Amino acid sequence: MISVFGSANMDLVAYVPAAPRLGETVTGWAFRTIPGGKGANQAVAAARAGAEVAFVGAVGDDAFGPGLRAALADAGVDVGRLRTVPGPSGIAHIVVEDGGGNAIIVVPGANGTVAGPDDGDAAVIGRSAALLLQLELPMEAVVAAARVPGPEVILTPAPAVPLPDELLERVDLIVPNEHEAAALTGAAGPDEALEALLGRVPEAVVTLGERGALYGSRDGTRLRVPALPVRAVDTTAAGDTFAGALAVARTEGLGPERALRFASAAAALSVGRAGASTSMPHRHEIDEALA
Ligand code: ATP
Repeated sequence: MISVFGSANMDLVAYVPAAPRLGETVTGWAFRTIPGGKGANQAVAAARAGAEVAFVGAVGDDAFGPGLRAALADAGVDVGRLRTVPGPSGIAHIVVEDGGGNAIIVVPGANGTVAGPDDGDAAVIGRSAALLLQLELPMEAVVAAARVPGPEVILTPAPAVPLPDELLERVDLIVPNEHEAAALTGAAGPDEALEALLGRVPEAVVTLGERGALYGSRDGTRLRVPALPVRAVDTTAAGDTFAGALAVARTEGLGPERALRFASAAAALSVGRAGASTSMPHRHEIDEALA
């Protein structure tokens, strides 16, 4: 089993010819509400990729809470540890311009109320082979979850904020994209960032978008896995699909190269289709892409 201790946000996406400036009103041509949040996205990705997944987090008692819960449950994710708390759910207010550029406001809402795991949460996390963490919950809560003994801890350090040592000493594998890797390490390029990360955690993957991913381990292994060629339709949540699928491959015992190929195939399939969690591939699709 894989546990995800993380965020659930409703993405409120307005599509406009050009984003408004302060004081301006523009008319958009479409609007969508899409369940997201890095934690929920990784949970859906891992479930679709074939794992039993439990989600630990919170939604609000507003109109968005039931939809966020249902999106996880519909993907087969166990929501027994998902709280409903008074107040608003987390939201991401997203403006997408015709050119593809976007501007995003995240309001944490219920995510900001999540404290460290209680005994019931810890029992679920402790039974898991892997724990997926991101940084859209309060840092103290993330650190407390990482301290639960048992699972391999896989951290997506997004958004990029300074990482306390008490978190890093519990992380087995860190999976930043190249921008996060640069922000965390100050390194000029991804190879240098990978080496700097390995000074702090035993294993690291730096994702490079359509250029694939780099892997390194303190045992000296270094790998570069190319992205699967795909016509990019929507790269939203490519990184979360990659992280969720990577956790599945590792808990199934695949070595680094096969695990990275599995994650790259899942991410490429999601990039080839519109949507965030809706675009994430099912296991048979990943297996077919790798065959
Ligand atoms: P996002 O923020 O969009 O979720 P990210 O910035 O966290 O993504 P990326 O490095 O862009 O992460 O992408 C993660 C992985 O997804 C890459 O390592 C690659 O395997 C796959 N991927 C991303 N973009 C493409 C693409 N255009 N074609 C094929 N694979 C892609």
